[in-house]
Amino acid sequence: MGEFNFSVILDAIRRSPDGLSRVELAGIVGLAAQTVSNICRRLLNQNLIVEAGKYGHGPGKPRTILKLNPDGMYAVGVHLDPVEMNYALLDLTGEVVVHRTLPVTPDADSAEAVRVMAAEIESILDEAGIDRSKVAGVGVAAPGPIDGPAGAVINPPHLPRWGRVELREDLHRALKLPVLLDKDVTAAVAAEIWAGGQSGTGSFAFIYLGTGIGAGIVLDDDVIRGSSGNAGEVGHIIADPDGPPCDCGRRGCIKVTCMPENILEEAAKAGISAVTKLKDASLQEGIAALVRAAKEGDVTANALLDRVAERFGTAVSVLTNLLDVDHVVFGGPFWQHFEAKFLEKLPELLNQLSVISAVHGLEVVGTSVSHDVGAVGAACLVLEDTFGPNANSLVLAEGE
Ligand SMILES: [Zn+2]
Repeated sequence: MGEFNFSVILDAIRRSPDGLSRVELAGIVGLAAQTVSNICRRLLNQNLIVEAGKYGHGPGKPRTILKLNPDGMYAVGVHLDPVEMNYALLDLTGEVVVHRTLPVTPDADSAEAVRVMAAEIESILDEAGIDRSKVAGVGVAAPGPIDGPAGAVINPPHLPRWGRVELREDLHRALKLPVLLDKDVTAAVAAEIWAGGQSGTGSFAFIYLGTGIGAGIVLDDDVIRGSSGNAGEVGHIIADPDGPPCDCGRRGCIKVTCMPENILEEAAKAGISAVTKLKDASLQEGIAALVRAAKEGDVTANALLDRVAERFGTAVSVLTNLLDVDHVVFGGPFWQHFEAKFLEKLPELLNQLSVISAVHGLEVVGTSVSHDVGAVGAACLVLEDTFGPNANSLVLAEGE
């Protein structure tokens, strides 16, 4: 692929769901009509685009509308989360064709995990009836820290037998498909850019609420990865200066005040019965119970959620001021629980704490990506890397 004009034209068609004529395309991308026409013929030959009817009024030939062919290419995304593995198969337009969630086996070693992942991906392609030649690649979203250039994960949480694993290479060998690896928050950002509409453009921070908390950063439509793919580690931003001590020697970092496990510990200490009466509940169930109690009138539970929102306001304002973003997108598996409270409290809090409020406001929104944003995003990274004009060539392709 790799050819810039080819990618630019495909990208322009992708961004126009209603389709474009060749003449409109030439206007948008600023290329000569003949060049556009030649590239469109190649795209049609490769089944990446289709002709979708004609329109025209007045004199002259009616114009043929070109659209992306959803069935032209696919990408698989895998999200390695500490508690579950999410898989998503996306078509070329970014629509989720298959989505699966499976529990992680914490005592499995990485070789076994790679075998399981490869088998699952094969089974998903079978279920969807998709030929492997139509799969652009597999994207893996992993918790940080990663060794981005090497495609390795390093001591992923809750997987004690892993250590450093060259996951990109291992999975590539097992599947014989191109594979890329990126951090989960970077994948989430890619999902927002490909599938999020307006909230996926411009300059924004994506706050990922999972078992851990991370930030994805996009400035002027560019995803910020840093030198090793680890940008966005926010764990030691101070969210509550009076909070509990952190292993970094300071107090009240995100890592010890804002994670689901911290919030549940605090709820238990405060004697919130909806939480203390739970037995063997997952973090998801615990947070859901806390939020439900607040909604049903438990004043202590509601006050705790207010404090959590204030902490996020304090911590996220460090990012928004540092980066001069114009909106913040929240997402991740725990977002659904905090959505109502955060959307009520955070816009005002963040705008109060903004040092740039005289220049522009700061919008706060929830992600518009359904399903697991990490898995969808990992597949979006593959589509971006294969077809996007700003491809990073992170993919370990066949034969390499
Ligand atoms: Zn700390």
